[in-house]
Amino acid sequence: MTDFKDNGAEKLLDISYERQYDSRFGSRCPHCKDGLAEYKCFECFNSRPLCKDCVLKMHVHAPFHDIDFWNGHFLERRSLSSLGELFPGSFIRPQTAFTAGALRDFHLLTLTTKLTSSAYTTFLRRKTDYWSKETTKDRAREFFTAFRMYSFLAKVKETGVDIPRHRQEFPAGSMATFCAACPQPGINMSPDWKTRPDNLKCVFRTRW
Ligand SMILES: [Zn+2]
Ligand SMILES: [Zn+2]
Repeated sequence: MTDFKDNGAEKLLDISYERQYDSRFGSRCPHCKDGLAEYKCFECFNSRPLCKDCVLKMHVHAPFHDIDFWNGHFLERRSLSSLGELFPGSFIRPQTAFTAGALRDFHLLTLTTKLTSSAYTTFLRRKTDYWSKETTKDRAREFFTAFRMYSFLAKVKETGVDIPRHRQEFPAGSMATFCAACPQPGINMSPDWKTRPDNLKCVFRTRW
């Protein structure tokens, strides 16, 4: 701890303060040389304060970054949607949207750590605003529904089946995961299994 205090603490403190302020706020936007540089994305690597139009242009391919706005006294968190960028919602009446990245992350997390969808959405709310739950609504139910659709589509892609129309069902077993270890006559099981006595039909091989 002494080494840390003597050698690294001050530098890390400076870096931490840089996360809360940038002396270039209020200057001319370095990108368009026109607007005031009042917006900064701290999620982008090595970003600079920009004007509103430029920060939107810079985030066409990163629409879910959080943007901070310098109001002259302190930083205010702004979402890109509140600055004028539109996000896709549901197909019929868009109300809520999730990124494919969030769904992919949750998929891996739930497989590796058994994380629940409600725990994940609680994490996302805290990450969005650590101090106030009121600013971010609870979307656990919507996330769960979205993840079910995501899993369904992933399974359809994996198995290569066509989605039945007009309320038809999938053919039985068409979305089952192939198991190479299961008995397959002629491959890992003798093809004559049907002619064996009943008590030996379940045996993969009668000779070794
Ligand atoms: Zn600009
Ligand atoms: Zn960004």
